[in-house]
Amino acid sequence: MSEDCLMKTYGRFDVTFNRGLGSKLYDIYDNEYIDFVSGVAVNCLGHSHPVIIKAIQEQSNKLMQVSNYYYNTTHRPLAKKLIENSDHESVFFCNSGTEAVEGALKLARKYGKLNGNKSTIIYMDNSFHGRTMGALSVTGQGKYQEAFTPLIGGVKKIPFNDINALKEAFTTDVCGIIVEPIQGEGGIIPINIDFINEVKELCTQNNALLIYDEVQCGIGRLGSLFAYKQFGVIPDVIAIAKGLGGGFPIGAVVANKKASAVLVPGDHGSTFGGNPLACAVSLAVITELVDNKVIDTIAERSKYVFDKLEVIKTKYPIIKEIRGMGFLIGVEIDFDTKEFMKKCLEKKLLLISAGPKVIRLLPPLNVTKEELDEALKVFTLVLDELC
Ligand code: PLP
Repeated sequence: MSEDCLMKTYGRFDVTFNRGLGSKLYDIYDNEYIDFVSGVAVNCLGHSHPVIIKAIQEQSNKLMQVSNYYYNTTHRPLAKKLIENSDHESVFFCNSGTEAVEGALKLARKYGKLNGNKSTIIYMDNSFHGRTMGALSVTGQGKYQEAFTPLIGGVKKIPFNDINALKEAFTTDVCGIIVEPIQGEGGIIPINIDFINEVKELCTQNNALLIYDEVQCGIGRLGSLFAYKQFGVIPDVIAIAKGLGGGFPIGAVVANKKASAVLVPGDHGSTFGGNPLACAVSLAVITELVDNKVIDTIAERSKYVFDKLEVIKTKYPIIKEIRGMGFLIGVEIDFDTKEFMKKCLEKKLLLISAGPKVIRLLPPLNVTKEELDEALKVFTLVLDELC
Protein backbone atom coordinates (compact mmCIF):
# COMPACT_ATOMS: atom_id res chain seq x y z
CA MET A 1 0.00 0.00 0.00
CA SER A 2 1.36 3.45 -0.87
CA GLU A 3 2.67 5.40 2.14
CA ASP A 4 2.67 8.75 0.33
CA CYS A 5 -0.43 9.99 2.11
CA LEU A 6 1.14 9.45 5.55
CA MET A 7 3.88 11.67 6.96
CA LYS A 8 7.09 9.70 7.21
CA THR A 9 7.34 9.77 10.99
CA TYR A 10 7.74 5.99 11.29
CA GLY A 11 10.01 3.47 9.57
CA ARG A 12 7.23 0.97 9.00
CA PHE A 13 7.53 -2.75 8.29
CA ASP A 14 5.91 -3.88 5.05
CA VAL A 15 2.77 -5.44 6.51
CA THR A 16 -0.82 -4.20 6.79
CA PHE A 17 -2.92 -5.47 9.67
CA ASN A 18 -6.60 -5.92 9.43
CA ARG A 19 -7.81 -7.53 12.65
CA GLY A 20 -6.66 -8.91 15.99
CA LEU A 21 -7.79 -11.45 18.54
CA GLY A 22 -6.08 -12.01 21.91
CA SER A 23 -2.34 -12.18 21.35
CA LYS A 24 -2.73 -12.69 17.58
CA LEU A 25 -2.86 -10.21 14.70
CA TYR A 26 -4.01 -10.98 11.16
CA ASP A 27 -2.81 -9.19 8.04
CA ILE A 28 -4.93 -8.39 4.97
CA TYR A 29 -4.20 -11.88 3.58
CA ASP A 30 -5.32 -13.37 6.90
CA ASN A 31 -1.81 -14.54 7.84
CA GLU A 32 -1.60 -14.99 11.61
CA TYR A 33 1.13 -13.25 13.68
CA ILE A 34 2.01 -13.60 17.36
CA ASP A 35 1.85 -10.05 18.67
CA PHE A 36 4.49 -9.44 21.36
CA VAL A 37 4.51 -5.70 20.69
CA SER A 38 0.94 -5.13 21.92
CA GLY A 39 0.84 -1.68 20.32
CA VAL A 40 4.00 -0.93 22.40
CA ALA A 41 2.61 -1.93 25.79
CA VAL A 42 -0.90 -0.72 25.00
CA ASN A 43 -3.12 -3.76 24.35
CA CYS A 44 -2.72 -5.16 27.86
CA LEU A 45 -5.69 -7.52 27.47
CA GLY A 46 -4.82 -8.49 23.91
CA HIS A 47 -6.92 -7.57 20.90
CA SER A 48 -10.73 -7.45 20.78
CA HIS A 49 -11.16 -8.38 24.43
CA PRO A 50 -14.88 -8.88 25.20
CA VAL A 51 -14.91 -6.53 28.22
CA ILE A 52 -13.52 -3.72 26.07
CA ILE A 53 -15.96 -4.37 23.23
CA LYS A 54 -18.85 -4.43 25.71
CA ALA A 55 -17.77 -1.16 27.36
CA ILE A 56 -17.45 0.58 23.98
CA GLN A 57 -20.82 -0.70 22.80
CA GLU A 58 -22.68 0.22 25.97
CA GLN A 59 -21.08 3.61 26.58
CA SER A 60 -21.19 4.74 22.94
CA ASN A 61 -24.92 4.09 23.04
CA LYS A 62 -25.23 6.45 26.02
CA LEU A 63 -22.70 9.29 25.86
CA MET A 64 -19.27 9.59 24.27
CA GLN A 65 -18.08 13.11 25.02
CA VAL A 66 -19.27 15.93 27.18
CA SER A 67 -17.41 19.05 28.24
CA ASN A 68 -15.28 19.00 31.35
CA TYR A 69 -17.38 21.92 32.56
CA TYR A 70 -19.77 19.17 33.74
CA TYR A 71 -19.46 15.89 35.61
CA ASN A 72 -20.14 12.64 33.80
CA THR A 73 -20.91 9.16 35.14
CA THR A 74 -17.53 7.58 34.31
CA HIS A 75 -14.59 9.90 35.14
CA ARG A 76 -15.11 9.84 38.89
CA PRO A 77 -15.53 6.03 39.15
CA LEU A 78 -12.33 5.58 37.13
CA ALA A 79 -10.44 8.14 39.22
CA LYS A 80 -11.71 6.42 42.38
CA LYS A 81 -10.49 3.05 41.12
CA LEU A 82 -7.01 4.43 40.42
CA ILE A 83 -6.89 6.12 43.82
CA GLU A 84 -8.05 2.96 45.63
CA ASN A 85 -5.14 1.12 44.07
CA SER A 86 -2.49 3.77 44.77
CA ASP A 87 -1.31 6.03 47.60
CA HIS A 88 -2.64 9.14 45.88
CA GLU A 89 -5.65 11.40 46.05
CA SER A 90 -6.63 12.81 42.71
CA VAL A 91 -6.48 12.34 38.97
CA PHE A 92 -6.37 14.50 35.84
CA PHE A 93 -7.39 12.75 32.62
CA CYS A 94 -5.86 13.35 29.20
CA ASN A 95 -5.42 11.32 26.04
CA SER A 96 -1.83 10.08 25.74
CA GLY A 97 1.46 9.50 27.51
CA THR A 98 3.11 12.69 26.37
CA GLU A 99 0.11 14.71 27.60
CA ALA A 100 0.29 12.96 30.96
CA VAL A 101 3.96 13.95 31.20
CA GLU A 102 3.11 17.55 30.20
CA GLY A 103 0.49 17.66 32.96
CA ALA A 104 2.99 16.31 35.50
CA LEU A 105 5.64 18.86 34.47
CA LYS A 106 3.15 21.72 34.73
CA LEU A 107 2.13 20.48 38.17
CA ALA A 108 5.79 20.54 39.27
CA ARG A 109 6.26 24.06 37.87
CA LYS A 110 3.18 25.42 39.64
CA TYR A 111 4.18 23.66 42.86
CA GLY A 112 7.64 25.21 42.61
CA LYS A 113 6.22 28.66 41.91
CA LEU A 114 4.13 28.53 45.09
CA ASN A 115 6.91 27.02 47.18
CA GLY A 116 9.93 29.30 46.92
CA ASN A 117 9.60 30.31 43.25
CA LYS A 118 11.56 27.27 42.05
CA SER A 119 11.38 26.11 38.43
CA THR A 120 14.15 23.64 37.51
CA ILE A 121 13.21 20.09 36.56
CA ILE A 122 15.83 17.34 36.65
CA TYR A 123 15.63 14.51 34.11
CA MET A 124 17.67 11.47 33.21
CA ASP A 125 20.08 10.75 30.42
CA ASN A 126 18.72 8.04 28.07
CA SER A 127 15.12 8.64 29.19
CA PHE A 128 12.04 8.87 26.97
CA HIS A 129 9.00 10.91 27.98
CA GLY A 130 7.22 11.77 24.72
CA ARG A 131 7.18 14.00 21.68
CA THR A 132 5.48 17.25 22.68
CA MET A 133 7.84 20.13 23.41
CA GLY A 134 7.77 19.85 27.21
CA ALA A 135 8.07 16.06 27.32
CA LEU A 136 10.73 16.19 24.58
CA SER A 137 12.71 18.73 26.61
CA VAL A 138 13.10 16.16 29.41
CA THR A 139 13.78 13.24 27.05
CA GLY A 140 17.46 12.44 27.48
CA GLN A 141 18.17 11.24 23.95
CA GLY A 142 19.68 13.65 21.46
CA LYS A 143 18.30 11.78 18.45
CA TYR A 144 14.76 12.81 19.40
CA GLN A 145 15.63 16.38 20.41
CA GLU A 146 18.21 17.66 17.93
CA ALA A 147 15.91 18.61 15.04
CA PHE A 148 13.56 20.56 17.31
CA THR A 149 15.70 22.89 19.39
CA PRO A 150 15.30 25.27 21.10
CA LEU A 151 13.28 23.27 23.60
CA ILE A 152 11.93 24.53 26.92
CA GLY A 153 14.45 25.90 29.40
CA GLY A 154 14.79 25.30 33.13
CA VAL A 155 15.61 21.61 32.79
CA LYS A 156 18.77 19.78 33.83
CA LYS A 157 19.96 16.34 32.64
CA ILE A 158 21.91 13.92 34.84
CA PRO A 159 23.25 10.40 34.18
CA PHE A 160 20.67 7.73 35.15
CA ASN A 161 21.38 6.03 38.50
CA ASP A 162 24.28 8.38 39.34
CA ILE A 163 23.90 9.49 42.98
CA ASN A 164 26.82 11.94 42.95
CA ALA A 165 25.51 13.72 39.85
CA LEU A 166 22.05 13.80 41.43
CA LYS A 167 23.34 15.45 44.62
CA GLU A 168 25.27 18.01 42.61
CA ALA A 169 22.30 18.84 40.36
CA PHE A 170 19.79 19.12 43.21
CA THR A 171 20.23 22.86 43.82
CA THR A 172 17.69 25.00 45.69
CA ASP A 173 15.88 26.00 42.47
CA VAL A 174 14.73 22.42 41.73
CA CYS A 175 10.94 22.02 41.78
CA GLY A 176 10.74 18.45 40.45
CA ILE A 177 12.48 15.43 39.06
CA ILE A 178 11.14 12.99 36.49
CA VAL A 179 12.22 9.35 36.18
CA GLU A 180 11.07 6.12 34.55
CA PRO A 181 11.20 3.26 37.10
CA ILE A 182 12.43 1.16 34.18
CA GLN A 183 13.71 3.05 31.14
CA GLY A 184 11.70 1.55 28.28
CA GLU A 185 12.74 3.13 24.98
CA GLY A 186 16.22 3.56 26.48
CA GLY A 187 16.82 -0.21 26.57
CA ILE A 188 14.89 -1.73 29.54
CA ILE A 189 17.16 -0.34 32.23
CA PRO A 190 15.79 -0.51 35.78
CA ILE A 191 16.27 2.24 38.30
CA ASN A 192 18.74 1.50 41.06
CA ILE A 193 17.12 1.19 44.52
CA ASP A 194 19.78 3.31 46.29
CA PHE A 195 19.40 5.96 43.59
CA ILE A 196 15.62 6.21 43.88
CA ASN A 197 15.84 6.33 47.68
CA GLU A 198 18.27 9.23 47.39
CA VAL A 199 15.96 10.96 44.88
CA LYS A 200 13.08 10.67 47.34
CA GLU A 201 15.21 11.92 50.21
CA LEU A 202 16.38 14.99 48.26
CA CYS A 203 12.83 15.74 47.06
CA THR A 204 11.62 15.66 50.67
CA GLN A 205 14.50 17.81 51.97
CA ASN A 206 14.09 20.40 49.18
CA ASN A 207 10.29 20.31 48.93
CA ALA A 208 10.38 19.23 45.27
CA LEU A 209 8.01 16.81 43.51
CA LEU A 210 9.03 13.30 42.52
CA ILE A 211 7.39 12.37 39.21
CA TYR A 212 7.34 8.79 37.94
CA ASP A 213 6.71 8.26 34.26
CA GLU A 214 4.85 4.94 34.30
CA VAL A 215 3.47 5.38 30.80
CA GLN A 216 5.18 2.22 29.60
CA CYS A 217 5.96 0.29 32.78
CA GLY A 218 2.68 1.00 34.62
CA ILE A 219 -0.80 -0.56 34.42
CA GLY A 220 0.29 -4.06 35.37
CA ARG A 221 3.30 -4.35 33.05
CA LEU A 222 5.66 -5.02 35.98
CA GLY A 223 3.17 -7.19 37.87
CA SER A 224 1.42 -4.49 39.92
CA LEU A 225 -1.12 -1.92 38.73
CA PHE A 226 1.37 0.87 39.48
CA ALA A 227 5.05 0.25 38.77
CA TYR A 228 6.20 2.21 41.85
CA LYS A 229 4.91 -0.60 44.10
CA GLN A 230 7.83 -2.74 42.89
CA PHE A 231 10.47 -0.26 44.11
CA GLY A 232 9.30 0.75 47.59
CA VAL A 233 9.33 4.52 46.99
CA ILE A 234 6.07 6.44 46.59
CA PRO A 235 6.24 9.28 44.04
CA ASP A 236 4.20 12.48 44.40
CA VAL A 237 2.99 12.36 40.81
CA ILE A 238 2.56 9.52 38.30
CA ALA A 239 2.05 9.79 34.54
CA ILE A 240 0.15 6.85 33.03
CA ALA A 241 -1.32 6.06 29.60
CA LYS A 242 -0.78 3.18 27.12
CA GLY A 243 -2.30 0.14 28.92
CA LEU A 244 -4.76 2.39 30.79
CA GLY A 245 -7.21 2.14 27.89
CA GLY A 246 -6.19 -1.33 26.69
CA GLY A 247 -6.10 0.09 23.14
CA PHE A 248 -8.45 3.04 23.55
CA PRO A 249 -6.61 6.39 23.88
CA ILE A 250 -6.47 7.72 27.43
CA GLY A 251 -3.79 9.07 29.74
CA ALA A 252 -3.79 10.37 33.29
CA VAL A 253 -1.83 12.26 35.92
CA VAL A 254 -2.27 10.72 39.36
CA ALA A 255 -1.06 12.88 42.26
CA ASN A 256 -1.00 13.14 46.02
CA LYS A 257 -2.82 15.94 47.83
CA LYS A 258 0.28 18.07 48.34
CA ALA A 259 0.91 18.18 44.58
CA SER A 260 -2.62 18.35 43.21
CA ALA A 261 -3.74 21.04 45.68
CA VAL A 262 -1.80 23.70 43.76
CA LEU A 263 -4.04 23.49 40.68
CA VAL A 264 -7.05 25.78 40.38
CA PRO A 265 -9.70 26.06 37.64
CA GLY A 266 -8.13 27.33 34.44
CA ASP A 267 -4.59 26.07 35.20
CA HIS A 268 -4.83 23.02 32.98
CA GLY A 269 -7.39 21.24 30.83
CA SER A 270 -8.21 18.95 27.93
CA THR A 271 -11.25 18.91 25.65
CA PHE A 272 -11.22 15.13 25.28
CA GLY A 273 -9.60 14.23 28.62
CA GLY A 274 -11.94 12.26 30.86
CA ASN A 275 -14.52 11.70 28.12
CA PRO A 276 -17.14 9.10 29.10
CA LEU A 277 -16.20 6.62 26.37
CA ALA A 278 -12.48 6.49 27.20
CA CYS A 279 -13.20 6.35 30.94
CA ALA A 280 -15.78 3.56 30.58
CA VAL A 281 -13.31 1.48 28.58
CA SER A 282 -10.49 2.18 31.02
CA LEU A 283 -12.69 1.26 33.99
CA ALA A 284 -13.49 -2.07 32.30
CA VAL A 285 -9.77 -2.67 31.66
CA ILE A 286 -8.70 -1.87 35.23
CA THR A 287 -11.55 -3.97 36.64
CA GLU A 288 -10.44 -6.92 34.52
CA LEU A 289 -6.78 -6.46 35.50
CA VAL A 290 -7.37 -5.91 39.23
CA ASP A 291 -10.72 -7.41 40.29
CA ASN A 292 -10.54 -10.35 37.92
CA LYS A 293 -6.97 -10.83 39.09
CA VAL A 294 -5.10 -10.89 35.78
CA ILE A 295 -2.35 -8.93 37.53
CA ASP A 296 -2.03 -11.44 40.38
CA THR A 297 -0.88 -14.16 37.98
CA ILE A 298 1.71 -12.12 36.08
CA ALA A 299 4.62 -12.88 38.43
CA GLU A 300 4.32 -16.63 37.85
CA ARG A 301 4.01 -16.41 34.06
CA SER A 302 6.78 -13.81 33.98
CA LYS A 303 9.13 -16.12 35.90
CA TYR A 304 8.24 -18.87 33.44
CA VAL A 305 9.34 -16.79 30.45
CA PHE A 306 12.41 -15.26 32.13
CA ASP A 307 13.62 -18.75 33.17
CA LYS A 308 13.20 -20.00 29.61
CA LEU A 309 15.02 -16.96 28.21
CA GLU A 310 17.94 -17.53 30.59
CA VAL A 311 18.23 -21.09 29.30
CA ILE A 312 18.10 -19.84 25.70
CA LYS A 313 20.83 -17.31 26.55
CA THR A 314 23.23 -20.09 27.56
CA LYS A 315 22.91 -21.60 24.07
CA TYR A 316 23.24 -18.50 21.91
CA PRO A 317 26.26 -16.28 22.53
CA ILE A 318 24.71 -13.37 20.59
CA ILE A 319 22.45 -12.85 23.62
CA LYS A 320 24.33 -10.62 26.04
CA GLU A 321 21.78 -9.98 28.77
CA ILE A 322 18.13 -10.51 29.72
CA ARG A 323 16.62 -7.54 31.58
CA GLY A 324 13.30 -6.30 32.87
CA MET A 325 10.45 -7.33 35.09
CA GLY A 326 6.93 -8.73 34.68
CA PHE A 327 6.11 -8.52 31.00
CA LEU A 328 8.49 -5.67 30.16
CA ILE A 329 11.30 -7.83 28.86
CA GLY A 330 14.52 -6.75 27.16
CA VAL A 331 16.96 -9.07 25.44
CA GLU A 332 20.28 -7.41 24.63
CA ILE A 333 21.78 -8.93 21.50
CA ASP A 334 25.05 -8.54 19.66
CA PHE A 335 23.27 -8.17 16.32
CA ASP A 336 21.39 -5.49 14.42
CA THR A 337 17.98 -5.31 16.09
CA LYS A 338 16.18 -4.13 12.94
CA GLU A 339 17.44 -7.20 11.04
CA PHE A 340 16.49 -9.41 13.96
CA MET A 341 12.95 -7.99 14.04
CA LYS A 342 12.64 -8.48 10.27
CA LYS A 343 13.60 -12.13 10.58
CA CYS A 344 11.04 -12.60 13.37
CA LEU A 345 8.41 -10.86 11.23
CA GLU A 346 9.13 -13.27 8.34
CA LYS A 347 8.33 -16.07 10.79
CA LYS A 348 5.21 -14.24 11.97
CA LEU A 349 6.42 -13.07 15.37
CA LEU A 350 6.14 -9.35 16.13
CA LEU A 351 8.79 -7.86 18.42
CA ILE A 352 10.09 -4.34 18.88
CA SER A 353 13.50 -2.89 19.65
CA ALA A 354 14.48 -0.61 22.52
CA GLY A 355 17.51 1.20 21.16
CA PRO A 356 20.12 -0.33 18.83
CA LYS A 357 20.95 -3.40 20.93
CA VAL A 358 17.84 -4.51 22.75
CA ILE A 359 14.85 -6.54 21.58
CA ARG A 360 11.70 -5.91 23.59
CA LEU A 361 9.06 -8.53 24.34
CA LEU A 362 5.76 -6.95 25.38
CA PRO A 363 3.13 -9.68 25.39
CA PRO A 364 -0.42 -8.89 26.51
CA LEU A 365 -0.69 -9.26 30.29
CA ASN A 366 -3.15 -12.15 29.92
CA VAL A 367 -0.83 -14.13 27.62
CA THR A 368 -0.89 -17.89 28.23
CA LYS A 369 2.13 -20.14 28.81
CA GLU A 370 1.33 -21.87 25.52
CA GLU A 371 1.51 -18.55 23.69
CA LEU A 372 4.76 -17.71 25.46
CA ASP A 373 6.17 -21.07 24.31
CA GLU A 374 4.94 -20.44 20.79
CA ALA A 375 6.73 -17.08 20.64
CA LEU A 376 9.94 -18.44 22.18
CA LYS A 377 9.96 -21.23 19.62
CA VAL A 378 10.03 -18.70 16.76
CA PHE A 379 12.57 -16.56 18.66
CA THR A 380 14.83 -19.63 18.95
CA LEU A 381 14.40 -20.47 15.25
CA VAL A 382 15.67 -16.99 14.35
CA LEU A 383 18.60 -17.39 16.75
CA ASP A 384 19.38 -20.75 15.09
CA GLU A 385 19.51 -19.03 11.73
CA LEU A 386 21.89 -16.38 13.02
CA CYS A 387 24.29 -18.60 14.97
N1 PLP B 1 6.65 8.06 28.45
C1 PLP B 1 7.15 6.83 28.21
C2 PLP B 1 7.96 6.14 29.27
C3 PLP B 1 6.88 6.19 26.99
O1 PLP B 1 7.37 4.97 26.77
C4 PLP B 1 6.10 6.87 26.04
C5 PLP B 1 5.82 6.24 24.73
O2 PLP B 1 6.46 5.30 24.32
C6 PLP B 1 5.62 8.15 26.33
C7 PLP B 1 5.90 8.72 27.55
C8 PLP B 1 4.77 8.91 25.34
O3 PLP B 1 3.53 8.32 25.24
P1 PLP B 1 2.57 8.63 23.98
O4 PLP B 1 3.20 8.02 22.77
O5 PLP B 1 1.24 8.01 24.35
O6 PLP B 1 2.46 10.11 23.86
